[in-house]
Amino acid sequence: MNTLEMLRALRAMTVLGDIASGAVTVADLEALGIRDAAAWARHAATYHGPTRQRARQAAARAAGAGLSPDALMVVEKHVRKLLAGAAVTEWELRVELCALRGTVEEIDRAAATRVREYNRGVEDAERKAYGRRALKGGKNTDALGNRTFTVTGPERVIADVLGGIRTVAGQLRRDDPRLTYEQAMFDAFLDTRGGGPAREVVITVLPLPESTKVLRQEGDETVFARTDGTTITGAELVAEAMVEEGYVGIFDPVRGGVNVYRDERFANFKQRVLLSAETILCPHPGCTTPANQCQVHHLTAWEQGGETNIENLSMACAVHNARNDDDPNAPPRNGRLERRAGGVVHLPPDGGPPRENIHPIRTLSAMALSRT
Ligand SMILES: [Zn+2]
Repeated sequence: MNTLEMLRALRAMTVLGDIASGAVTVADLEALGIRDAAAWARHAATYHGPTRQRARQAAARAAGAGLSPDALMVVEKHVRKLLAGAAVTEWELRVELCALRGTVEEIDRAAATRVREYNRGVEDAERKAYGRRALKGGKNTDALGNRTFTVTGPERVIADVLGGIRTVAGQLRRDDPRLTYEQAMFDAFLDTRGGGPAREVVITVLPLPESTKVLRQEGDETVFARTDGTTITGAELVAEAMVEEGYVGIFDPVRGGVNVYRDERFANFKQRVLLSAETILCPHPGCTTPANQCQVHHLTAWEQGGETNIENLSMACAVHNARNDDDPNAPPRNGRLERRAGGVVHLPPDGGPPRENIHPIRTLSAMALSRT
């Protein structure tokens, strides 16, 4: 038997069956260097041991006949996360998850999504999930002398915490470009420890027809995506809007972004798209940073009362955004960007004539094309 044949024969249900029958013992597995021997024995009892759900147990075994031991571990990991009171029983879920196909990672993601769906329907799901919050590890020192711990909590809490840390990390990396993302996140974590970091603005994407339903509280079960990579249901959205200032961007399928809040400091997606198309590159003379890597720049600074509307915005790279002379009353140092008829120009600090970024690709920008 060659390696491929051996791996093909090593299916989870076969191994579990042999453990259950006593043909293979936990001691055998450990002697052969199988790390999760104890877990295998547990799963053998689950899939072959006594249960009142004989039919479902058999169905799960049949559905999972092709699964590798790693895939079955993933299935069981997610079965453990099913909350009491969900619309499916543990065994129904097992049958469903055992039927998943794909790589272990694909099965992992698909299973997580399905169990999340079931858990969302559980009354008091948030409180129950919060009961499983944890900070674990940090006890073992590795060969380098480092330690690691993991933090588990509701997605929104974690996203909020990391959003704040990421904001500080971005600043640290601008100050010291040699920092890697991970290093900056660590330094920012220490910086913000206990200090209540500034929160990232999170926008919930809400299609226009759904928004009226949510406002009438009829869209409770509908799931919406948020720009921090988390999701939220209509019911949670209404609850959040009532307790804290949340940002909700309403998007019409044809017209795009519908609402532009006067009080919203951060430009919406539609504005970013239009501004990016307008300028293609950072408008600073000589700059080659593409719009997609630029930040949204307020031409009249937010602090000076500048509004978040297209006329007052431009894309600008991180360097030229930071170097811009935002305060018109302060002595000029680097000059400032300004919108003139025909596009955004740079006014040099010496009071000389306005200059454009004349990079050739900008002749194809939306603004240049609209001038011809
Ligand atoms: Zn630039």
